[in-house]
Formats: sequence, C-alpha cells, structure tokens
Amino acid sequence: MKSPWVKKCPIHGQRAVKFPGTASTSELTFYCPVCQAGLQQGLAAVCDCNKGSLKFTVHRSGTVFKPRGISMINPPRRDILQNIELAGGGERALEWVLSGLESRQLTESSAARNPESIRKLLEDRGFDSATVQAMIAAMPADQTNQQSPVVNLGPLLKADAERQAKQIALATYESRITLDDLLKKTTNIELKKLYQVDYVSATKLAGIERVELIDRFPVLTAQFGFTRGDSTPGNSRLRTYRETNGDYTLYGELSQTEALFIRLDPQVVYAWLQRNAFSLTAAQDRRSSAEAILSAMSSDDVAQAVTRLVHSFSHAFIKRAAVYAGIEKSSLSEIILPTALSFFVYAAPRGDFVLGGLQVLLESELHHVLQGLIDDDHRCALDPGCEDTGAACAVCLHLGEPSCQLFNTALSRKVLAGALGYLDVAAVQP
Ligand SMILES: [Zn+2]
Ligand SMILES: [Zn+2]
Ligand SMILES: [Zn+2]
Repeated sequence: MKSPWVKKCPIHGQRAVKFPGTASTSELTFYCPVCQAGLQQGLAAVCDCNKGSLKFTVHRSGTVFKPRGISMINPPRRDILQNIELAGGGERALEWVLSGLESRQLTESSAARNPESIRKLLEDRGFDSATVQAMIAAMPADQTNQQSPVVNLGPLLKADAERQAKQIALATYESRITLDDLLKKTTNIELKKLYQVDYVSATKLAGIERVELIDRFPVLTAQFGFTRGDSTPGNSRLRTYRETNGDYTLYGELSQTEALFIRLDPQVVYAWLQRNAFSLTAAQDRRSSAEAILSAMSSDDVAQAVTRLVHSFSHAFIKRAAVYAGIEKSSLSEIILPTALSFFVYAAPRGDFVLGGLQVLLESELHHVLQGLIDDDHRCALDPGCEDTGAACAVCLHLGEPSCQLFNTALSRKVLAGALGYLDVAAVQP
C-alpha cells in the first residue's frame, strides 16, 4: 500500500484536480487553482525499489476494499450466559438440540447427567475437589450412566457442535414462538386451518422440522478488518483494525432484532445423505438420525455436504422470502449452524427493514414461501454455464455479501433440486 502523492504549486502552495469522468487514474489532471498551471498528469509514483512504477486501482469495488466482520449471537445479559453455563453449557445444549429442542428453554430440558459435566458444574460453583468427588460418588448409578454421551465425536467437531448448539440456546432463551404457539393462540378458524393443514404439509414437503420466530434476537455485528484484491480466503492478506499501541479493535453494534429459526428434519437429511451415497450408522428416528449425521460429519466430505445443504437452503429461503413476503433480501442475514442442521435468518439491524416483517411471514406467509421453494425448478438464467461451474452464481443463489455468512461459498442448487436434491428426497419421505 502506498498513498499517491501530488505535488503542490511551488508558488501558491495549492493543488486541484479535474476529474476525467473515467475510472483511469492516468487521466486525472492536477493543476493549480490560482495560476492554472498544470502540475501533474495521473498519479505518477515509483515503487520503493525504484525499479518499477506503481499502478493505482480506483476505489470503487470490492477488490479494493472488502470489509471483514462477524455476526454472532450475543447474550443480552450476562446472567443468561451464566445460566446456560451452569446448566451444563455446550454439552447440555448439544444434547438438547439433538433431541429436537423439546423443552422451551435449554435450562428446562432434562439435565445432561454425564459425571464430567456435573463435576465441572460443581467446580464452577466453588466446591472443593474432595466435596465434588464425594457428591459424584453419591449419585445413583442410573443417574450417572443414563445419558449416553454423544457418539465418538472428535474434539474439534464436538467443540463446533457444542458451540453451535449453545448459540441456539442463547438465541431462544428469552423469546421463542413456535408454530404450536401460533395455533394455540388463534381463535380464527381460517388461521387454524392454515396452521394445521397448509403449514404442516408445506414444512413436511420442504423437509423442515421446525420454523420458529425469535422476536428479540440478540445479535452482535462487528468489523475487525478488511482485505484487498482476491476475496477468496487464503488469497489475500487480512488487515485488522488496530489501536496505535497495537491492540486489536472491533467496531461493533449490539442489537435485538427479529429472526426465524429453521431446522431441517434430521430424518430427511439422513435419507438425502444416503441418496448421495454417504454411509451412515443405522438410525430409526429423528434423534438417532441427528446423531448419526453429526458423527458422520467427522468426515470432511459429509461435513461439507451438510454445510452446503444448510447454506443453500438458507439462501433459497431468503430469496423466496423476498418474493413471497415482500421482504427486501438485502435486509436479511443468515447464521448457519450445520452441525445442528439449522440456520437463523434475521433482519439486519442496518438498513431499512420494517420490524415485524418476519413475524408476518411466520404468521401468514410461511406456506407461500415454502411452496415457492418446493415448486420452483431451481434453474438459473445462466444455465448451462452456471450449472457447469458449481451451480451457484449471482443470478441464482448468491446473496449480497453483508447478508451471507460464508461469503457465497459452499452453495449449490444441485443439493436442493435435481435427482439428488434435498427437496426431491423430502417429497417422497413417508
Ligand atoms: Zn499556482
Ligand atoms: Zn446461477
Ligand atoms: Zn450465505
């Protein structure tokens, strides 16, 4: 990086620029605004090595400046985080997610009875190790062994799965509106029928286990730096924001917004993986399917396939939400949780999103959005070119970069539709 430098008029100490109306820096004309004398044409600059001249790229596209940031679910209050940690943290959250988020809050779910997590819990509460030992020894055997720990997950995958499960626990801690809640709340016959018939069939055909509204979704968006040039991870250098003393700086915004939580049906994902020739351990129900998928994700191939599925589904959903519920798609963002077969779609705190849009979607438009997803033939105007190069492009599946958590990677229309597509598998599920 080198800042261009333009000399000033030696007499008047001034300089001005005439813009050529093109994007070429060599056509910039610098002159003195007082005497009109020409000073310089273009941004002539020599490299520090004195051997070559520098080329300047005009600051107008993502190749020059691409902000890099994160979005994460942020507990609005410290005690919520504490409650979740004390209740067993990531381990219990994972157990809760695997068994289908049955109870309303993580802390109401049946406790993870793994002696290790109980040990940690007691230690965190300040008991000394002798007392902890005695208390664990005193636990009835059926209580210490009742919970089969999640099958052979490697430490990295386990940490990932627990972190993602904990994000769900945090996000749903304060507010959570399920389709059952909608049904119970309404007295309107038409709406009852909508929820009991249309919604049920649309979610089933879309291979969705649950759609829920979180009306106070706690999200932190923060920028930590930027890159220039090729935006593919690994091909450019990340420039972080720093204080003058070298400390890292994050520019962030905390907000509470609306979000939808969507979890794919583990049994459909299981069948889809099988259809795509991945081998999985036997499973009979949702719970065991979810476990089988998670443990199979220790293989990179399966992990990538599941990530691509959840991510492509999220993008396809957001695009349909824009078409059928009138929500501007650039005002929606996603958080992808592949190990939980889930994603959040939330209203970006930036922009001009009308609060309540996702609530309306859930209350009265969900079947349209999902039916759009199911009926669509998922083609792209740029096929066959698009199809031959990954089946995802700006025309069909990409979202604006601020909306996408994974920089528009790990996407393909083929995981949704076509012979091996998720929606085709969902359509024939019993
Ligand atoms: Zn002058
Ligand atoms: Zn395309
Ligand atoms: Zn994305």
